[in-house]
Amino acid sequence: MQRKKKESPTVGILGGGQLGRMLALAFAKWDGDLLVLDRRGCPAEGVACELVEGDFSREEDVLRIGRRVDVLTIEIEHVHTGALRQLVAEGVQVHPRPEMLDVIADKGLQKQFYRSAGFPTASFELYESAEAIREAVRAGRLSLPFVQKARKGGYDGRGVFVVREEADLEHLLPLPSVVEDKVEIALELAVIAARNPSGELRTYEPVEMHFREGANLLDYLIAPAAVSDAHLAKAKKLAAELISAMDLCGLLAVEMFLTPSGDLLINEAAPRPHNSGHHTIEAAPCSQFEQHLRAILDLPLGDTRLRSPALMMNLLGPEDYQGPLPWRRYEALLGLPDVHLHLYGKKESRPFRKMGHLSLLAPSRQELMRKMEEAVGRMENVGASRLMWRLRR
Ligand code: ADP
Repeated sequence: MQRKKKESPTVGILGGGQLGRMLALAFAKWDGDLLVLDRRGCPAEGVACELVEGDFSREEDVLRIGRRVDVLTIEIEHVHTGALRQLVAEGVQVHPRPEMLDVIADKGLQKQFYRSAGFPTASFELYESAEAIREAVRAGRLSLPFVQKARKGGYDGRGVFVVREEADLEHLLPLPSVVEDKVEIALELAVIAARNPSGELRTYEPVEMHFREGANLLDYLIAPAAVSDAHLAKAKKLAAELISAMDLCGLLAVEMFLTPSGDLLINEAAPRPHNSGHHTIEAAPCSQFEQHLRAILDLPLGDTRLRSPALMMNLLGPEDYQGPLPWRRYEALLGLPDVHLHLYGKKESRPFRKMGHLSLLAPSRQELMRKMEEAVGRMENVGASRLMWRLRR
């Protein structure tokens, strides 16, 4: 039997990092009641209606927030899913569904899902230990180069190791891992799909992602991706098929590799708002954050069209600095038209920590790149040269 929708449902989020903060900001415009579970001092504190102090990987803390809300969601995958199953049994709406969250939070299970459901992805094998990988190489069952990925706990490139030569075999991650073929990548793309319990489904325009060399951290993205219309359509279709196959409600951010021969391979997916969708706050009528809330609340989904080409650039903590970064340091940026500054309220900058982002809108790719250079120049002019604004070409 369909449960009756509550008129003013309370939403809970596991995690109060920047994604939780931006979800809370989106919900605030509707007067919505929103609780966030995280530690004191997290970015969402002061934006959410209430910070529930606790740890999202602890069963009792997840149960404690879950029993106070009607709909519970996440901003990070590594939460206590046993508690989420219990909450589902008690009648709480939980999105993403805990069974699929378990699959996604383990890169091994995630890859097996793609394989068994027939989605294109790089070939892989699972290994229990570093020694088992070395043994496979010695026995000729595995050849270099390959990419080793920790099954659990990795993010922003931590837990990903590209094994290029024999000597790298001594530095393998000492963990159960996925070993993947090293794919030749022409461009990395991401597509965000949204789906609600009524079955409505929408996708945002694919974006191209440019990573910081060595750190595997997203440096900047451009929307829409500079690929053929056929590839744009194919990427959106893949993301739509994947969110349906996973039977998820809310968002699914799907990262893909475009190979030089024109194939699209799914790399990984995240069932929540994602760094690859931050530009949608200004560049789409409905941001990814509002869309996630609409989807989990079974509201009509919002318009995902791009209003304008956009570029989003992460503002990372400087490599050689730890301490506060006062927001007035950024003020020279505010004089630029259609340049939007977002800071995440993190009390302390650490090397490469995501401190905020900039979104730029302009009519063409050339204009976007020019604007990005101007923004970078202005940040340097205000004595912020210690900060990591330097662009990778
Ligand atoms: P994370 O979950 O930490 O973001 P990813 O699986 O996205 O890890 O890998 C990080 C980056 O490593 C990717 O964006 C891509 O540049 C590179 N990479 C990952 N898998 C492969 C692969 N099979 N072949 C080549 N490069 C890869």
